Amino acid sequence: MKPSALKVLVCPACKGGLELREATYRGDEVLEGHLECRGCSAAYPVRRGVPRFVSAGGYAGSFAYQWRHFRSVQLDSLNGRDESDRSFRATTGWTAEDLRGSRVLDAGVGAGRYAEIVATAGGEVFGIDLTEAVDAAYENIGERAGVHLAQADIFAMPFREGTFDRAYSIGVLHHTPDPRAAFARVAASVKPGGSLAVYLYRNPGPGRYGPDLIRKVTTRLPLRVVRALSTVAVPLYYPYRLPLLGKVLMFVGPISLHPDWRTRWLDTFDWYTPKYQWKLSHPEVFEWFRENGCVDIEIAKEPIRMRGVRAGTSAPAPAR
Ligand SMILES: [Zn+2]
Repeated sequence: MKPSALKVLVCPACKGGLELREATYRGDEVLEGHLECRGCSAAYPVRRGVPRFVSAGGYAGSFAYQWRHFRSVQLDSLNGRDESDRSFRATTGWTAEDLRGSRVLDAGVGAGRYAEIVATAGGEVFGIDLTEAVDAAYENIGERAGVHLAQADIFAMPFREGTFDRAYSIGVLHHTPDPRAAFARVAASVKPGGSLAVYLYRNPGPGRYGPDLIRKVTTRLPLRVVRALSTVAVPLYYPYRLPLLGKVLMFVGPISLHPDWRTRWLDTFDWYTPKYQWKLSHPEVFEWFRENGCVDIEIAKEPIRMRGVRAGTSAPAPAR
């Protein structure tokens, strides 16, 4: 954690300012210590470089496990590909120029694949995650300039409303108990005139019955068992690629068909483990943007990638 994060972080309970106490440092990074609220005196620990506003990952526990075991698979800087970059652009439409000097929220940072893109472009990114996935993110990008991470709940974020120039949540809100309410929180964190972008699963209609049935079993199995079972996606890639048989297999029990075997394994695990996996429609997500005061709503590529701008003009930015 960088002490400069304290100009933005607040107590999630009362939105009071926070004070850093008993800090131990490595260079400029606060590794351990605690944050005390000036308003309600609540205390939040800083552990392993990350401020912790929640103590356990709750319903999203599978992601702590996932990013501990697949920490480096999706980071462009570590795998030599540009897939995260392309997915980020396809969802947000934001260029490196848009991001430079911009204060950005990553709601559901995971191992940091998208936060890395913001930081590389010269933006200041605040990445939150409910789970210990933040430890994977910290290991990947935590000490980079412009990166701030926190373990926090999307429904009780350690930020005041209207804090960010931009906010995105890519592949996350459908894993919360209430995606529409989570969307409203993320939208509220964006200042008037700021931009908001999300990626969500789309409801495939009858195509959801097979996988939902399998998920009824897999979401109850120990994670290490599903991780082992997910390795079948590695060789099954070949029969699943056959013209007719492949279509039938995908309908009944979809697996990732990513050409990279590690990603195939990870994405298959990612599909069958989260407790919540809502599938949405374009009209309902469009409505979320409208009911949260967004204009210039754009619908990008499949599955659901949508972005908009919060109406109104921003007051002059406070000194940073
Ligand atoms: Zn407080």
